[in-house]
Amino acid sequence: MSPKLFNPGPVDVSPETFAAMSHTMIGHRGKDFEDLYASLQPGLKEIFGTARPVFLSTSSAWGVMEASLRNLTKKKVLCLCCGAFSDKWLDVAKKCGFEAEAVQVEWGDAISPDAVRAKLAEGEFDTVTFIHSETSTGVLNDLAGICAAVKSFPDTMLIVDTVSSLSTVDIDMDKHGIDVCLAGVQKALALPPGLAVFAVSEAGMERAKSNPNRGYYFDFIEFAKNDAANNTPTTPAISLLFGLQYMLGNIAKEGYAARKARHLKTNTMIREWGAKHGFQLFSPIDRSSFALTCFATPETLDLSGFIKALKTKYNFLINGGYGKIKGTTFRISNMGNETEATMQELIDAMDDVLKDLK
Ligand SMILES: *Cc1c(COP(=O)(O)O)cnc(C)c1O
Repeated sequence: MSPKLFNPGPVDVSPETFAAMSHTMIGHRGKDFEDLYASLQPGLKEIFGTARPVFLSTSSAWGVMEASLRNLTKKKVLCLCCGAFSDKWLDVAKKCGFEAEAVQVEWGDAISPDAVRAKLAEGEFDTVTFIHSETSTGVLNDLAGICAAVKSFPDTMLIVDTVSSLSTVDIDMDKHGIDVCLAGVQKALALPPGLAVFAVSEAGMERAKSNPNRGYYFDFIEFAKNDAANNTPTTPAISLLFGLQYMLGNIAKEGYAARKARHLKTNTMIREWGAKHGFQLFSPIDRSSFALTCFATPETLDLSGFIKALKTKYNFLINGGYGKIKGTTFRISNMGNETEATMQELIDAMDDVLKDLK
């Protein structure tokens, strides 16, 4: 059997979610589908903190990350870079043919709103890309501070990736003036991969309208037109939408506040476990994610032996670091459906394996 995933994405998917996804197939141009689409809106709006419609993109998160640039950027992109995903967004902007620059900090550090203000003051940028929870380093950036910094420059579009934070902490898209807020469903929403969800501000839609190079598949205007009829521009991943409907129902049942509290609690368990073993957080303590934890690998730890033993003995998978910090860091996810009980099982298993390693 494949190991249970405590890897920060994709995360473990529950049998109940898979069962919901095995719903009979329905056509996407009919009443059943419109009802399904409409049923997802209240739950999605709540976790995004928006009154805007939430669009459903049959793609991974990168589809919408690239699309946001194609829809919004007319001049130049400023990418806020602090890890593998945010750094890659700069490459993606350049690959799409945009002029782009970075505010770059060391991996493991958070982005400073003052640095963003200083760079935007150069007056060249009309779009900013920002990753709230940088999954590669475990940094949870200062959402309110960064949004306020960007919003002090009128007509500057702010694109925010909440892939590993959505539904674990407040996003408040409308309050913060975010223009595109996006996430993939295989991380904090604990669904199989293949679907991204995103909302666009009114100003973002206006910018898109005046942008001729939006293409078709990811055209925000097409998404809005179809949304008005509770539909999507092209045939969506209908099975995943049934899974999403089930997950949003779960969130409503648990209560959004309780869900956030659960993530705080389970994340604290992992931080405390690390502290007990002398493992340092790779991210600043006051800017660390509540959905995953990234530790610096101590020299005394045989990381690959640890990960391998955890898998062989307990069939649990944690992650041995991403990109250029592979090996020097390791990451543990508590996002999605994990509870105090399941995190305790992991902690007991890790303690046991560590004992054997010594
Ligand atoms: C996983 C992840 C992505 C990439 O998502 P895909 O689904 O592979 O496109 C982007 N941003 C963040 C913060 C992520 O954690």
